[in-house]
Amino acid sequence: MNREWEILQIPGPTPIPPSVDRAMSQPMIGHRGQKCKALMEDLAPRLKPIFGTTGDVLVLSSSGTSALEAAVVNTTSAGDEVIVVVAGAFGERFAKICNTYELNVHRIDVEWGNAVQVAAIEEQLQANPNVKAVFVTHCETSTGVMHPVEEIAERVHEVSEALVIVDGVSSMGGAALDMDGSGIDLLISGSQKAMMLPAGLAFAAVSEQAWSVIHENTRPRFYLDLRTYKKSLDSGQTPFTPALSLLFGLQEVLSLIEEEGLDKVHERHQIMKEMTRAAFRALNVPLLVSEEDASSTVTSVRPQTFKAEQFRKIANEEFGLMTAGGQGHLKGEIFRVGHMGYSRPTNVLQYISIIEVVLKRLGHDFEQGAGTAAAQEAYLQATRELD
Ligand SMILES: *Cc1c(COP(=O)(O)O)cnc(C)c1O
Repeated sequence: MNREWEILQIPGPTPIPPSVDRAMSQPMIGHRGQKCKALMEDLAPRLKPIFGTTGDVLVLSSSGTSALEAAVVNTTSAGDEVIVVVAGAFGERFAKICNTYELNVHRIDVEWGNAVQVAAIEEQLQANPNVKAVFVTHCETSTGVMHPVEEIAERVHEVSEALVIVDGVSSMGGAALDMDGSGIDLLISGSQKAMMLPAGLAFAAVSEQAWSVIHENTRPRFYLDLRTYKKSLDSGQTPFTPALSLLFGLQEVLSLIEEEGLDKVHERHQIMKEMTRAAFRALNVPLLVSEEDASSTVTSVRPQTFKAEQFRKIANEEFGLMTAGGQGHLKGEIFRVGHMGYSRPTNVLQYISIIEVVLKRLGHDFEQGAGTAAAQEAYLQATRELD
């Protein structure tokens, strides 16, 4: 097969729009010169709406996990009590980072595939009034669940002083979050998911309440010290050499999002989710996640009549369609289709049609064309509602 035929429908890294690829090939500039200052000053205000904030959005040159770690080291000291929602591999990562930095972690374990109950967090806070921060994932990429983080933030602030720290790596740029309105204190993201870039940038949007905690916190930190990023940002700089090519690309990503309209971008993700879920229902392939908890950027299914890994192998070898497998105990049990960033209903119609052929190869029982028809119908319905 032609090696350029790969169709990347995994929840990151995601495909890069051609104009973003071109933007990234611009010649280098000096990172302490006027051009870089102009670039940083252009990016700073344009990033804010994506995070639903009028506050600072810091840009680090490192992968998304670095900003998760930055959130931990900047807001906590060893021995501090924190709550971590663990409902999948990324919640588990937050817990591991917190354990690494010797925090006293109160885990809220949620069955993988479900969203956390807001009441469970409230209960933990009441039982542990000294908790300094609540860590929760927005889109739990390993299952395709979207946790109700706005509601969580509102409730946490009603009943405690704790910060609310959200991992939005696989949702920002694809799903709306009202950071300021709901009171999220730190909202983290990365470049290679819905932000349509290669890996290498991490984002941290910071609330005023988080800044006061960060400034008072005495834990030593260097590369991940958010105070230095803030100080530099205020003068149109970065503390260290930034990943300039990615910043050039980011400028183009922001233009694409602004041209389409941020609300339209979010709607497009909702539509792709609905099309994908309608198709799997029509194909008798069980969805892992309920309608209420499902993410608009990634969909997981748990096949009963065939092996998920065999499906992925055939889809890839015959059509170049890349889907993702399960993580942790769901390895081999599920597969995941990413529909975020540079992905649109066109792609959904394509991958659902391919999926049908692969399901036929596997001897799965369904009416050929039913998935595609369901996706088409979901598209027609969703776009009719928008008119
Ligand atoms: C991909 C992802 C990360 C990890 O980001 P890296 O860029 O690989 O460090 C963290 N959290 C979530 C929810 C993700 O989907």
